[in-house]
Amino acid sequence: MLDENNVTDSQSQSLVLQPLWDYLLQNHHDFLRSPPFPAILSVTTYFILVGFYTVLDLLAPTWPCINRYRLHPDRPVTWPNIWTTLGVTVYNHVFYIFPATVAQWLWRPPTLLPREAPTFLSFVLGILGCMVLFDFQYYLWHLLHHHIPWLYRTFHAIHHQYNQTFSLVTQYLSGWELFSVGFWTTVDPILLQCHCLTAWSFMVFNVYISVEQHCGYVFPWAMHNLVPFGLWGGAPKHDAHHQRPGTNFAPYFSHWDWLGGTHMVPSPSKSSV
Ligand SMILES: [Zn+2]
Ligand SMILES: [Zn+2]
Repeated sequence: MLDENNVTDSQSQSLVLQPLWDYLLQNHHDFLRSPPFPAILSVTTYFILVGFYTVLDLLAPTWPCINRYRLHPDRPVTWPNIWTTLGVTVYNHVFYIFPATVAQWLWRPPTLLPREAPTFLSFVLGILGCMVLFDFQYYLWHLLHHHIPWLYRTFHAIHHQYNQTFSLVTQYLSGWELFSVGFWTTVDPILLQCHCLTAWSFMVFNVYISVEQHCGYVFPWAMHNLVPFGLWGGAPKHDAHHQRPGTNFAPYFSHWDWLGGTHMVPSPSKSSV
């Protein structure tokens, strides 16, 4: 009886994502298995999210119902802010992401897509595992690039030119930082032997989190409002990092900053400048 229940449980777990996976295989098989698909997915997600928040930034000065959710309601995002950050973002995409995507197209064999979807449990655990791993990798990278002056000057200082975050600051980065983040996001699901659906979902989630972290808004659905015990960093803590660069190094969770003594909760008053 117990075995039958276990079999039924595992079958129902498998079924949750199978219809979605079947739909994707039947309708988009060739596109999904093409080597540049993950890069196209990440870039598209990034520009949709940044476009959404940039529209909010432009409306916020005249729309109080939007401005009230901003971390710095008295400091509007200006057109020069938008052009400068957009310029570096486009530069990075043209000179780093596009060549890397073309190289994958030319030299990587197409992905073999399994017929079976991941079970719901392996999907959730896979994303969680990738998050924990990525969080640790970026925490170390970030700490090193703040504590070694040459690394800071050469690779990370550009990201700190803005002490107030807004969505386009997310990829206002050096090519090396963009490469590091892209490398771990690609390699971590492989290391954890995740299903490709899990890997792609992690990539989209990672882009969503990195933009949310920089968006400069605190909406009710913000991740740090959903995750209990202050375990999640989120937009206020990362905005604090841009103002006090010796604090809040981790990208997702707060535990490494707790352990390292670098955790800082910004004051409740939204605008601290
Ligand atoms: Zn940042
Ligand atoms: Zn930093």
